[in-house]
Amino acid sequence: MVEKFENMSEKQVKKENFLKKYSFLSETSHNRFIGCYDSKFTVRLVLPNFPDTEGSSVCAFHGIIPLDVQSMLKTGDSTEMLDNMLQYLDKYQETSTERVDLNVDSVLKIFKQLETVKHDHGCKIFSNSDVSKIKLSGFKAIDANFLEMERISDGDFQVTSHSLPDLGSSIELFKWHASPEAHAAAFVQILDQLDEFYSNLHTLDELCHVVEPVDIDTRTTWRIIKFNQKVFLKITLHPLQPASVVVAFLGPTAEIEYLRELYNTKLEDWDPESDVYTNLLRIFEIMAFPMRIEPGGLDDEGSQCGICMSYRDDRNKIPIISCDNEKCSLIFHIGCLKEWFMSLKDSRTFFAISVGTCPYCKQKVSSSFDELLNNLELNRTNPT
Ligand SMILES: [Zn+2]
Ligand SMILES: [Zn+2]
Repeated sequence: MVEKFENMSEKQVKKENFLKKYSFLSETSHNRFIGCYDSKFTVRLVLPNFPDTEGSSVCAFHGIIPLDVQSMLKTGDSTEMLDNMLQYLDKYQETSTERVDLNVDSVLKIFKQLETVKHDHGCKIFSNSDVSKIKLSGFKAIDANFLEMERISDGDFQVTSHSLPDLGSSIELFKWHASPEAHAAAFVQILDQLDEFYSNLHTLDELCHVVEPVDIDTRTTWRIIKFNQKVFLKITLHPLQPASVVVAFLGPTAEIEYLRELYNTKLEDWDPESDVYTNLLRIFEIMAFPMRIEPGGLDDEGSQCGICMSYRDDRNKIPIISCDNEKCSLIFHIGCLKEWFMSLKDSRTFFAISVGTCPYCKQKVSSSFDELLNNLELNRTNPT
């Protein structure tokens, strides 16, 4: 222990001397250094094994131009390495004929801010060499959460892309010109407000057989879940208003009319203290929703598409559309049915599908079909 302590203090002394010698550097977090050398060069050092250079990374910029200094790392001692690098920078200054708008202070400021952001929010940071484009990801330990921004002026950035669902006019995040630090703080604040929304969706994903969307992302505010062999529920949540839930019913007309009636009658008993999943179970008086079949397990017997005869189509979707005939057990992929209707001579447009009939028994196909398809198609055109 004593020896270890002495080693620690010895390292501490070395670091103090290091920072004294290279007074332009400051330590932003443990063994991470940043500074502006000779008012022209931004220097960043990560020395995890200080004073040794093992595992280190180093970069330097002349204004916004990145310089090839990584090769300076081959020596084993930080001081020696830094001396070599500064020599190189002095020389670069002498021979360089490039005239650059240096703006070194603002680049340095951005780097410092990014260090703070990383420290405060535990996110990952990616940027191009002149930090004109920045991507922050992994907020709240979820890789899919991200924020991308572009530099508008010296220290001001504008958000160009993000992982949030559509929040309407309630956020102005996209329009601000602000520092990366301010953008990150606002983003985290919104994520905090979305905790309940994501938690509700997560429960549905875990405990229901979600048939749409096939790929879960951080933006989609709805799920289509299986209710029984022929009935599916489309549950749409409001990201910022957990109590605002919209349920749409897909399936044979008589059956969904009954369920809609039940839902409307019992809706007033909705318990805001319980999650969406628990409330839905209570409303429909069931113990659980059908669960997803394990990946790799056998597909549902008897639920293959009546047109292509397979369970999953080429877009990995399962059949969810059936007709109104109780005795007809067929169910179809949306895509297959769409093709079928388009092949009919008398079908005008596909979106007038509510007049469509079952390819087998000729009974009416649920009128919820066109709306569903419309939604799904619209959703597909959203940026991903
Ligand atoms: Zn099919
Ligand atoms: Zn039928």
